Amino acid sequence: MESLSSRLKSFNKAKSSKSTKSNSLGWPHPTSFAANPNTLADAGFYFNPSADDPDNVICFMCEKELGGWEADDNPFDIHVEKCPKCPWALARCSLEHDLDSKGNFVFEDASRLPSNKALEKARLDSFGGKRKWWPHDANKLHGATSKKLAKAGFVYTPQESGVQDDTATCFYCDLSLSGWDPEDDPMYVYRPTTLHGYL
Ligand SMILES: [Zn+2]
Ligand SMILES: [Zn+2]
Repeated sequence: MESLSSRLKSFNKAKSSKSTKSNSLGWPHPTSFAANPNTLADAGFYFNPSADDPDNVICFMCEKELGGWEADDNPFDIHVEKCPKCPWALARCSLEHDLDSKGNFVFEDASRLPSNKALEKARLDSFGGKRKWWPHDANKLHGATSKKLAKAGFVYTPQESGVQDDTATCFYCDLSLSGWDPEDDPMYVYRPTTLHGYL
C-alpha cells in the first residue's frame, strides 16, 4: 500500500465486491465530504471497511485505523492530529498547512522549513527504513540513497507497491523523478533544473 494507486484501488475494490448483499462496501459518504477516496489515498490511507465500520481506513505507514468520518473532517489534518509521529503525516500531510490560499508555500517559522531535521527524518522514513522499500540502498556505491534523497527534499512515492519502483517526489515543487542511476547525486541532478529553492 506504499503506492498512491494501490491505496486508491482499495476504494474501488471494496465497491465491486459481490460478497455483500444489499449494502455495498463502497465509500459511504457523499462527494461533499472532505474525506473522499482521492484525499484519503493522498493522505496515506487505504480502505478497510467492515459492516460495523463502513468508513474505516488504515494508514499504510503507521497502520492507524480511523473511521466515523464527518463532513468537515480533513484527512490531512486528522492524520497529523492523531499520528503526529507518522512519517507520512509529517512528510506529506503536514505540508498542507504551509500552503497559502494560492497554493504557494509559506513557512511560518524555521520548524516548518523543509530543511528542518524532523521533516527530513520523516522523509527518510518514507523510504521504508528496515522495510527496505528503496531499491538503491542495497548498493553501497549508489549515489541516490534514501538519505541523500530525503536531504534533497524527496519522499518515496512508488507507482506500484512491491515492485522495486524508484519513484521519489518532492512535494514542495511537485516533482517526481525515477530511474536513478548510480552516478546520480540527488542534490546535483535536481536543484539546477527546478525552481526549488527551499532547502
Ligand atoms: Zn500514518
Ligand atoms: Zn522541490
